[in-house]
Amino acid sequence: MENCSPTQTPEVDREALRLKYLAERDKRLRPEGQQQYLEAEDEFADFYEGDPHLPVQAREPISGELEVAVLGGGFAGLITAHRLQQAGVTDFRIIELGGDFGGVWYWNRYPGIQVDSDSYCYLPLLEETGFMPKEKFSHGDECYEHAQRIGRHFGLYEHALFHTLIRSLEWDAQLERWRITTNRGDTIDAHFVVMCQGPYNRPKLPGIPGIADFDGHIFHTARWDYEYTGGNLHGGLDKLGDKRIAVIGTGSSGVQVIPHLAAGAKHLTVFQRTPSYIFERDNHPTDPEWVKSLEPGWRADRQRNFHNAAFAFYSPGEPDLICDGWTEVARNLAAKLNETNGWTALADPAKFLEFKEIEDYRSMERLRQRIAQTVTDPETAEILKPYYRNMCKRPVFNDDYLPTFNRPNVTLVDVSASKGVERITEKGVVAGGVEYEVDCIILASGFEITTSLDRQYDIEPFTGRDGRSLYEHWGKGFRTLHGMSTHGFPNIYFTGFIQGGVTAATTLMFEQQADHIAYIIAEAKARGLTAVEPTEAAEQEWVSTVRANTVDNSTFVTECTPGYYNSEGEPNGRSFLGDPFWGGFYVLEELLQSWRDAGDLAGLSTKER
Ligand code: NAP
Repeated sequence: MENCSPTQTPEVDREALRLKYLAERDKRLRPEGQQQYLEAEDEFADFYEGDPHLPVQAREPISGELEVAVLGGGFAGLITAHRLQQAGVTDFRIIELGGDFGGVWYWNRYPGIQVDSDSYCYLPLLEETGFMPKEKFSHGDECYEHAQRIGRHFGLYEHALFHTLIRSLEWDAQLERWRITTNRGDTIDAHFVVMCQGPYNRPKLPGIPGIADFDGHIFHTARWDYEYTGGNLHGGLDKLGDKRIAVIGTGSSGVQVIPHLAAGAKHLTVFQRTPSYIFERDNHPTDPEWVKSLEPGWRADRQRNFHNAAFAFYSPGEPDLICDGWTEVARNLAAKLNETNGWTALADPAKFLEFKEIEDYRSMERLRQRIAQTVTDPETAEILKPYYRNMCKRPVFNDDYLPTFNRPNVTLVDVSASKGVERITEKGVVAGGVEYEVDCIILASGFEITTSLDRQYDIEPFTGRDGRSLYEHWGKGFRTLHGMSTHGFPNIYFTGFIQGGVTAATTLMFEQQADHIAYIIAEAKARGLTAVEPTEAAEQEWVSTVRANTVDNSTFVTECTPGYYNSEGEPNGRSFLGDPFWGGFYVLEELLQSWRDAGDLAGLSTKER
């Protein structure tokens, strides 16, 4: 479908820019690192546990036994449930805090919400459900509806336990089951548990002094209050005409809501600490002719092509099928190599990185120039310019965001010098010593992604054999077999960015993990095994394999301006990719397949009934 040409990018003075990047990083580094954020608990619990979309219905607590508990009903949980069914495991429940399937797409319904990466790669189980996204970048309602579609198509609703939050997980050695307790008073004993909480499950709040003092309305983007704003996720916020609104945060969520708030509010004040880098959205409807031309397996090819751009590199002559901001640097570099007949230089990894770095600097300069061309006030334009490398932060795609700052009812406040908003008062937000009085504060402050694992999971206690805490076991870093199971914690499996292979389509990673986990659970059932866990030796061997394949990107990471990607710049902080097996996503795929083909559950200690 795509006819993808390289993007024209300007010449740059890399050395001068590098120094500027470092200065911009230093301006924002905070000694508290991740601790600057407040957890959504106690008086702030409603920012996480409250559901503005669907009233929670009273129900009696549940108790009893279960074969498999899948914790989370977003795409990871749905894919896992589908793979369990395929493997013949049908006694499972999907336990989910939301009132429906969808995960992030259930919770995040803020105006403007849209997928930021190629929907054809991202939305799972397309061929299986016969669905094709309407556009390259789906809107949030299409994603939520697709989660519902998967739920209906595979009969997963009958397995769901909604509006239920796991409070604790403890391995009971006598029962050889996981005792699960929930916020609804349930006590469920599950033989197996699969953790499918996803990376964006729990909103975090900026630890701004006085945040609890505000007398107006306040909410997080992940729990949008349409009662207050009017409108829906496509905009039309018609209740804000007399309201002064503040937004704190200009990451992916902030950038998507800001144009809609500006269109609806009497006045909008945007508090920006670090600007995002904004690619053209350039969305387009799905071309029916392209759809007709697709052969079975097209999606796997597309996902692999995306992977090559993001985590490996194209082979000579390979087209860029994705053709957006995610692939700009790789696409431009490939074009240069074609022009100069330079592909052989890639044999030298240092040369490859240098080539890539040049394209990265040029691409970021192009985006800065785009801001200067779009935003009429030069001072505002300057504040909006991002000075850091591509992939220091998550790329953002929007065509309406930058023009929003040309509106008379929008004020941009740069809070970088004070490393964030200074204070919240009863009446509003203080920055640069000025109090901005507002009626409503919207926190676009992100999620517990690279804060500590106990904050992200919010499960306490979380204990395996002999009462050992998972948080202690992984206290000095992840220790797993293949990124999915860990010694001392029988019958529990992990999905997500832990110690596996990473790829550009997160849902493809979930598929790889679900295939493997479903296989192990089905085999355990078939062989009458009551407890299955990696041996200490197998776990150590995988940790060593991961170490042996480590890519040292520490200079890149530490030179980045702080954010959740680099754990707020904390040395040795958690990476949002976990502790990846850099040997490669597709290498791991082959390894896992051979492991399953061998059929001997190598590296797992098993106990028979
Ligand atoms: P985020 O990227 O973590 O952004 C949080 C924002 O809050 C940042 O701009 C941050 O500034 C700002 N902030 C935090 N504390 C502050 C303070 N004290 N004062 C002023 N500003 C403060 O969160 P997000 O935008 O919700 O996005 C999180 C992730 O969710 C994304 O990266 C993406 O992976 C996913 N997401 C995806 C989509 C999509 O695909 N459509 C949409 C939304 C989110 P600093 O940058 O200076 O820290």
